[in-house]
Parts: sequence; structure tokens; C-alpha cells
Amino acid sequence: MRFDELQELLSRKGFQKYESAMLGVIEGYPVMITKAANSSSQASITYSIDGKVTRKVMKALSKLGYAGLGKNSVKVNFSLKDKKFEEKYDNATTKVVKALQELGIMPQTACPICGSSECDSYALMGEGYQPVHAKCVKNYQVGIKEKTEKNELSGNYFTGLIGALLGGVVGSVPNILSILWANKIYAVLFALIPLCTYYGYKLLRGKLNKVCVVITMLVSIIAVFFIEFAVTVMMVVDQFGFTIQESFTTCLDMMKTPEAFKEVFFNSDSITSFIFVIIGIIITWSQISTTNHSIVSSAEEISKTLTPNLNYVDSYVATEEKVNEI
Ligand SMILES: [Zn+2]
Repeated sequence: MRFDELQELLSRKGFQKYESAMLGVIEGYPVMITKAANSSSQASITYSIDGKVTRKVMKALSKLGYAGLGKNSVKVNFSLKDKKFEEKYDNATTKVVKALQELGIMPQTACPICGSSECDSYALMGEGYQPVHAKCVKNYQVGIKEKTEKNELSGNYFTGLIGALLGGVVGSVPNILSILWANKIYAVLFALIPLCTYYGYKLLRGKLNKVCVVITMLVSIIAVFFIEFAVTVMMVVDQFGFTIQESFTTCLDMMKTPEAFKEVFFNSDSITSFIFVIIGIIITWSQISTTNHSIVSSAEEISKTLTPNLNYVDSYVATEEKVNEI
């Protein structure tokens, strides 16, 4: 079965389509069904749940396709291959629900915005399809709008740039230490540079627009020069017994000669660092490209998936009727 065929099948079962995800409720559990991240022949079901998933639960689900945990969710994968599709889908739905119920893992009931239950709707928020109060979603959107408008008005490029530079220095420290202590360059540590730069900019109230994205990228690349220079300063301290200050002024003087400049900043290690920082920018892109505009539009997107919780409506009506009977 192809994923689009599964989508069609789920639509017939009452699931709602949002982009490539299918949203619905299985036995009270709000679920999101997507293509599996690592395989085109598999789909993932993300169950929104209450409470912590213990090892025991993971073990019970491992036979049924356990694929991962979120803050309030558990993900199960199943194969789309035609031959055993029905069985796999059954494992990932009926059997998983049974296992969760038996282990006391109940469907999520608390609204992620206000934390209380008796949610009148469902919506795709954060990591999954979750119970929400329609009113909370509205208030959340208004709040986000106000906050971003305030940033548009009072955000400051200068303080933001200072924050970005400080963030870049902080993000560079683990890289400097790994080069000095382990004599190694780790690609993963380079992802910290754009992240710290971005959050530094944000923390010092920089205006969150495209300029922020450009500043984050430029400062991250400049950070590689900072790392190379800091490593050279520390090596001179180590080899010649200079104080940090002596080493700093000596190195700064040395940089005036093009040969030394080239030697420090354009050696094979620094080229690797440049490549790694670019990879770091790519892997953190979804975070560092977050602007006021994208924050507002992703908050507005929630409305597109907002669906009434029929159980709630039913029980609400039932309670009303009971009250009327009395
Ligand atoms: Zn709420």
C-alpha cells in the first residue's frame, strides 16, 4: 500500500488530512499518522498520552513497532507493504491501544496551553494531535501576535548583534576545548554555534526578522575565525609558557603577516571547521530561521486542524439533558 492509499483509507475512517499527516482519534487516543522519517515503506502513528512511558511499556510496545517517545507521546511504526498490511496496521492500532490500556497509559486529556482537562476540541500542536480548548488556542494566537508585534516595534538590531556575538563565543567554547583537549574536531559541536548565536540574538531582544537569520549565519562563520585564533593563543601559552595576555598580543601581532594569517585561518583544520559550521547551520535551520512572521503563521496554522471533540460535545449534551430531566 502506498502512503496516499493509506491516507484515502483513513479519510474514509473519518481522519482529517493536514499537509501529509492524517489526524484522528483511536479509542480515545488522539493520533497523528505520518510517513516514517527513515523509511518510505513505513508509516508512523504518534499517540498523545498522559503520564510517563516506562521501560515496561517500551518493552511491551517493542513487538508492536515501538519507534520513539515524545514529551506526551509515543510513536509506533508499521509497514505499508501489501502482503501483511492489515496485520501490521492492526498491531499498530488495536494491539497498541490494548497494550497502552493494560499498562495504564491513558489518552492525553490535558490541554497543552492551560494544562486543564475537559477539552472541547483537538488540534495539531507541537509534537502531535492533542486535546485543546478552542478558547485557549484563540488566546494563544492573540498572545503570540501581541508578543511578535511588540518585538517588531521595540526589537533592536544592535543589542541583538551583541547577543549574537556573545552567543557565538559561548557556542565556540566546547569546540575550542575539544580541539585543545582531545585534539579533535566534532561536527556535532559545531551545531551549537548557530544555535547559541540565534538564542543570544533573541535573548538580547534583537528584532526577529530576516536580518536575524543573516546575522546568525555571518556570526556563526566568524566564530570559526574566533575558534582558530583562540586555539592558536592557547597553544602559544602551552608551548612557550606565556600568559594568556602575552600570547594574545603576540598572536595579534603575528596576524599582521599574511603568511601567519593564512597559516592560522586557512589550514586544513579550519577548512574542516568551516564545512562543519555550514552543516551546523543546515541542521539547525528550522530553529535559526524562526522569525516573527514564521511564529505567527505557525500559530495560525493550528486553527486549520482545530476540530470539535465529539465525545466532549456528547457528554456535554448528555449532562445538559440530565440536568433538564431533574
Ligand atoms: Zn486549555
